[in-house]
Amino acid sequence: MPTTASTATATASAARTEHIVIVGAGFGGLGMAIKLKEAGFDDFTILDKDDGVGGTWRANHYPGAQCDVPSHLYSFSFEPNPRWSRTFPLQPELLAYLEHCADKYDLRRHLVTGAEVVGARFDEATGTWEVEVRDGRRWTARAVVAATGGLSRPKLPELPGRDDFRGPWFHSARWDHDVDLRGKTVAVIGTGASAIQVVPNIVDDVGRLLVFQRTPPWIVPHTDRPIGAREQALFARLPVTQKLARWSTYWQLEWRALAFTRATWMLKAAERLVARHLAAQVADPALRARLRPTYSLGCKRVLISDLYYPALQRPNCELVSDGIAAITPTGIRTVDGQERAVDVIVYCTGFAAADDVAPYPVYGRGGRRLDLEWRDGAEAFLGTTVSGFPNMFTIVGPNTGLGHSSMVFMIESQVAYVMDALAQLRARRWKYVDVRPEAQDVFNQRLQTRLDRTVWNTGGCASWYRAANGKNVTLWPGFTAEYRLRTRRFDPAPYECVADDAGARDRAAPAPGDAPVVTLGAVAAGQ
Ligand code: NAP
Repeated sequence: MPTTASTATATASAARTEHIVIVGAGFGGLGMAIKLKEAGFDDFTILDKDDGVGGTWRANHYPGAQCDVPSHLYSFSFEPNPRWSRTFPLQPELLAYLEHCADKYDLRRHLVTGAEVVGARFDEATGTWEVEVRDGRRWTARAVVAATGGLSRPKLPELPGRDDFRGPWFHSARWDHDVDLRGKTVAVIGTGASAIQVVPNIVDDVGRLLVFQRTPPWIVPHTDRPIGAREQALFARLPVTQKLARWSTYWQLEWRALAFTRATWMLKAAERLVARHLAAQVADPALRARLRPTYSLGCKRVLISDLYYPALQRPNCELVSDGIAAITPTGIRTVDGQERAVDVIVYCTGFAAADDVAPYPVYGRGGRRLDLEWRDGAEAFLGTTVSGFPNMFTIVGPNTGLGHSSMVFMIESQVAYVMDALAQLRARRWKYVDVRPEAQDVFNQRLQTRLDRTVWNTGGCASWYRAANGKNVTLWPGFTAEYRLRTRRFDPAPYECVADDAGARDRAAPAPGDAPVVTLGAVAAGQ
């Protein structure tokens, strides 16, 4: 049992605990931990089911894994890395970056790995959470920060015969490097962000590659390039140049929110440009027709690649666009009755992002269950707090995802909000804060009204952004700058703030001047 854990458990019954449990050691969990330390909170534990930090960038080590957001923006604003080797970071570099953050900010002594949370229960009497991991260890905490990531649970398709396949098979987020693909007939199922990176990176090694496409993605040209030693040295010696690069990337990406959320007509013009990329890379009209999406650009995540279309046209590669009827013990049968023998199946079929959204059983006030609260689709206040689940904060919570910019920017916004909440919780000795249901309802009604106008809801596609009932539970409907402004401070007004002693309930009125004041320059710089 680690020191922090036993301390927390021992002190819980004796005195008021200020312990904080962070679940997840990816960008969200580490960002939260760093800001806690900076603010002088040292009493916290980070739990992660994996054997180290990194979150999605530890789990996704498939060939070619690379972030599709530029390096300077896909990193903490307070921890620039002048040594990115490419304009878009590769998975090993991102993992190394997060390992570096864990070391530099002395987070390892707070970290418990191999600790898969299996339940969290709130005790209204003490205003504390009891968090349990798979091996039975428990932590008592004043607050829980759930930073489990939107894309941490791989999804396998419910195809008949899937488990009867006799050869090796795995999901892209659980890549089995022990399986030697050389010379084999390999099936890749899915054509999303993961698949379009996997395909060009294995096509030259395998004997035959069969790519099973259900819906073609929109693919735009890549602007990735190496960052040379001179440029790196400039960033290291003159950090302002890297800040400028970040600022400029931020605004280049930010304007795209306009097209996705309000001026969707702009996407039609963009579609014509993107179609030219397809035409330039695929000469065969029949293949081009199968690769041309029939829904609006942006409805599904827009993908970036210069390598995917050429890979599909290698002599050893076949694009299969007939639906899959079943997996057989030796291959894959499509709906036209044809069976193709394969040696290995790689499922690039994405993640459970919108369905089954409570990652583990969570019990709030009066035993309320988060999975039941969210059965018609997850919702929260500002994507961060959920009514009935006091002192629980979600990083990358409902409707904080993006189709156009860097999640690290959103994470830093949420972390600032949670930090302010935790600081007030401690300073005012509140037992707990619980967002009022009416505040959460109004917030979500407005959010969903806005989402109804976006390309994600109107673009004529099915995507992981929306739950089975069609509700968009993942995306923020506007500019990230707006979200930054709205999460700048923790305003207690929409919350029930319960005092520690005598059970007095204190609905704190917002103090004059509580409204955040921030310049757009500061927003872009991530300050
Ligand atoms: P995804 O975008 O959800 O793609 C899953 C693919 O599997 C889709 O093409 C889907 O087809 C297909 N599929 C699912 N079930 C199927 C079935 N029964 N039969 C045939 N095809 C099936 O998943 P992902 O590629 O792992 O990416 C998920 C998200 O992770 C991305 O959108 C992105 O946010 C993130 N990501 C980012 C990067 C990056 O930064 N470069 C890389 C990887 C992932 P349909 O389209 O018809 O549903």
